[in-house]
Amino acid sequence: MSAGLLTTCYLGAGILFILSLGGLSHPETSRRGNYYGVIGMAIAIIITVFSLKTHSYVTVLPAMLVGGIIGTFVANRVKMTAMPELVAILHSFVGLAAVLVGFNNFLEPIANLAGAEKIIHDIEVYLGIFIGAITFSGSIVAFGKLSEKISGKPLLLPARHWLNLTIDISIIIIGYWFITTEDFQTGLIALSIMTGLALIFGVHMVMAIGGADMPVVVSMLNSYSGWAAAATGFMLSNNLLIITGALVGSSGAILSYIMCRAMNRNFLSVIAGGFGTTSVSSQIQIHGEVTPISASDTADMIKDSQSVIIVPGYGMAVSHAQHIINEIANILRKRGVNMRFAIHPVAGRMPGHMNVLLAEAKVPYDIVFEMDEINKDFADTDVVIVIGANDIVNPAALEDPCSPIAGMPVLEVWRAKNVIVSKRSMATGYAGIDNPLFYKENTHMLFGDAKTRMDEILAGLSTQS
Ligand code: NDP
Repeated sequence: MSAGLLTTCYLGAGILFILSLGGLSHPETSRRGNYYGVIGMAIAIIITVFSLKTHSYVTVLPAMLVGGIIGTFVANRVKMTAMPELVAILHSFVGLAAVLVGFNNFLEPIANLAGAEKIIHDIEVYLGIFIGAITFSGSIVAFGKLSEKISGKPLLLPARHWLNLTIDISIIIIGYWFITTEDFQTGLIALSIMTGLALIFGVHMVMAIGGADMPVVVSMLNSYSGWAAAATGFMLSNNLLIITGALVGSSGAILSYIMCRAMNRNFLSVIAGGFGTTSVSSQIQIHGEVTPISASDTADMIKDSQSVIIVPGYGMAVSHAQHIINEIANILRKRGVNMRFAIHPVAGRMPGHMNVLLAEAKVPYDIVFEMDEINKDFADTDVVIVIGANDIVNPAALEDPCSPIAGMPVLEVWRAKNVIVSKRSMATGYAGIDNPLFYKENTHMLFGDAKTRMDEILAGLSTQS
């Protein structure tokens, strides 16, 4: 295949990826954005396969077949609630690929380089392996935290910032050693030591972040995986990988920044591994009793309301209650109730989690509002139904300066006339902290699985209509 055709196709795929990102920025255009992405990726794969040398097919085609079968199997089996950990483990593959490509490039350089070209090539290899190793080990720890195989709480070693600084300085010194040495063995040793240090750095960095700050880790590792792919592109002189990696890297970095702003956290502090995180615990004792409510009483309460806001959280995803919630919303809207949904930016376990579930259940976009748009409206609302959410509606974020989530903006549901909280028990949410909302006078606890309770509410509403 001619180099011109290859470049043109790669350029076309790159443009489709940009259109895809543009489409994904709004629910109404996201489906189109997905199609652009699929077409772009299909072009990229087909053209890359056609551009291979004949003998490469022996390894590439079986690898694609095995990878494709495993990918299809995993994607078909994965539950929506397990998506974040699947994404985390996929990021680790990108990191591992960058490490392997980097070592391969060092062991078998494409050409005999000298002078400035060799220095640039060595820097590409070194940076590619460095970013890849951090992405690999960090993503594995994130996978462990999100799947609750390891504790989600931040692990704060006593001298953690000194440890980070020592590793950073060592990596710079070893980098200089690697680039200036002419000896192959010395270069390999330098590269191996740096890889070990980068792996430790990735583990340590993600271990130190936890609780409510985890969303930033997820989007940050997404960004790292993009930079790792871009570095791989430089090593393989593949323009499309460079473009795609840079798109993923920069969009992930922007998302991390947006997440931090939404959570009122300093971006650099979070990515430096919980910088500024002190091991404080709440000083406020929660007093009072909770008031349980039944599903039929809830149905009675909402049917006579003028305004209802539903706040979905991770528990809605666990119980798959979104479809039944949409039916309830439809009935209420037909009865003339001002019915809306309020979405917190970090609700659930991945960015946009709730928006995806509500879109899947065909909830109209025009009744779904972001936190900033709806927070002021709670005071004029008759009933707020919190479904499987906890941290994102915790007043301690605003009222308790010692709370681990202090300063994080939350949905101020307690300002409504009545709040119904649907959850199974008094258990804490992801951040592991108690929630004073449950003890407030205007709060009623609707205990039980969210879907079962929503089914009962729907039955109650249907018999009354
Ligand atoms: P939380 O994890 O704070 O709370 C979810 C609640 O759902 C739990 O308290 C649980 O209580 C309840 N629940 C679980 N299963 C069911 C069920 N079947 N029926 C009814 N209730 C159920 O979720 P939020 O959405 O409020 O907050 C998200 C948290 O996750 C934040 O701390 C955020 O920082 C973090 N996070 C978010 C990420 C993102 O990108 N969005 C990524 C990683 C972490 P019970 O057991 O009593 O039922």
